[in-house]
Amino acid sequence: MKDVALRTRYLTRELHSEPTKTDPASARKLRLTIADEAPPPRFKALSEKSIDEISQLDLLSPEERFAMRVVSKVLPFRVNRYVIDELIDWTNVPNDPIFQLTFPQRGMLAPEHFDHMSALVQKNADKTEIREAATRIRHELNPNPAGQKQHNVPKLDGVPLPGVQHKYPETVLFFPAQGQTCHSYCTFCFRWAQFVGDKALRFASSDAARLVSYLERHEEVSDVLITGGDPMVMRSKNIAAYATALLDPALEHVQSVRFGSKALTYWPHRFVTDKDADDLLRVFDELVAKGKHVAFMAHVNHWRELEPEICHRAIRRIRDTGAVIRAQGPLLAHINDDAETWSKTWRTQVRLGLVPYYMFVERDTGARRYFEVPLARAYAAYRDAVRSVSGLARTARGPSMSAGPGKVEIQGITEIAGEKVFALRFIQARNPEWVQKPFFARYDEEATWLDHLRPAFGEESFFFEKEYKAKYGATTLK
Ligand code: SF4
Repeated sequence: MKDVALRTRYLTRELHSEPTKTDPASARKLRLTIADEAPPPRFKALSEKSIDEISQLDLLSPEERFAMRVVSKVLPFRVNRYVIDELIDWTNVPNDPIFQLTFPQRGMLAPEHFDHMSALVQKNADKTEIREAATRIRHELNPNPAGQKQHNVPKLDGVPLPGVQHKYPETVLFFPAQGQTCHSYCTFCFRWAQFVGDKALRFASSDAARLVSYLERHEEVSDVLITGGDPMVMRSKNIAAYATALLDPALEHVQSVRFGSKALTYWPHRFVTDKDADDLLRVFDELVAKGKHVAFMAHVNHWRELEPEICHRAIRRIRDTGAVIRAQGPLLAHINDDAETWSKTWRTQVRLGLVPYYMFVERDTGARRYFEVPLARAYAAYRDAVRSVSGLARTARGPSMSAGPGKVEIQGITEIAGEKVFALRFIQARNPEWVQKPFFARYDEEATWLDHLRPAFGEESFFFEKEYKAKYGATTLK
């Protein structure tokens, strides 16, 4: 009975948030349409082993398909039917941005890595030999960038807290064990090491009690980000268990509960037709009702992901709980490295009720070599996109590098005292004193990350560099 009441409540909400709510006839028609709908699609993921089931790949040459196999021996590959059938434009493959976002490409591996793995696949090497080669290559791809393993894992009573990262004072990241996969994997993924079955590389915890104990002792923490992988792959009852643990009266200082997720565009049914979709929304409801800010941090890389009607329904349902959806993603070669795409993506987000939040720079990990874009070009794309949107879409910050010392934003390219420079600032930093302090790097047309930049005006080091290196034992600014 309770379930029926709940379903009715959410269905009513959804109907009421339709633009046709003042028109009883169209509301009735909509109700009938929903009732008459075919059974909701069931989630089906395909991986490297089931690649032959994807008939659309017959469009590709045998060489392209072989390259896909080779790359997916090293980097994780997973895609679902919704992405294949609803998001990818197969008439535009291999250039289609969503195809590039989900299917492995040869250029994602360095030539020597590709050739090595390719030779093993060609000679039908046994599983162990392939796995060992893959592990060696992965360790060369900087699986845990920006000092995550060394510097971000906090301690409780002197013991490292697995599945938790605490880099900036106000924000703690929690990686629930059941949420360490995604509905599809992004080829550029900066968390790819979570998915390759190597426990040494992975962050994961199922111990909400230890998280709560840690947070109790850290009143400076105002935000907890539940992340993955994608926490939305978890059953709603698991999400509820982790999220409602944060309602502990001792955690009043935790104001915001964030969920990092790409499910809104990779599997929007999670919020609409999945069996426990309503239970999930009820978790958001409860958090909001108990005074927490619920921030749904949506990974969005291209406006095309936001086109399907099912995604619009998911957005309406999440927003109806009182959660705010903020959208973020990196700028990537082959996918979205131009101002027009970002401008349209941000405008689409604002129209649908999402808040543009971050444009990131592709991180120094995994398939970066294929996706990286020089900082100068990334900045130009950001600047030109911002110039073409209204103030409501100018909430997106960037281009921002999530580097070892903190999140560094490129604020501009300018000339000071005859020297062409990048103007930079920390949006977030390991030391809060560094935040907002402007600093300058010599202009470099090729640089793609913070460690490629050199201080401007003849300085030997950036203002934070000595402190960062001394405190964390870092040798670079990666
Ligand atoms: S959704 Fe996020 S964690 Fe999952 S594959 Fe994409 S970038 Fe990686």
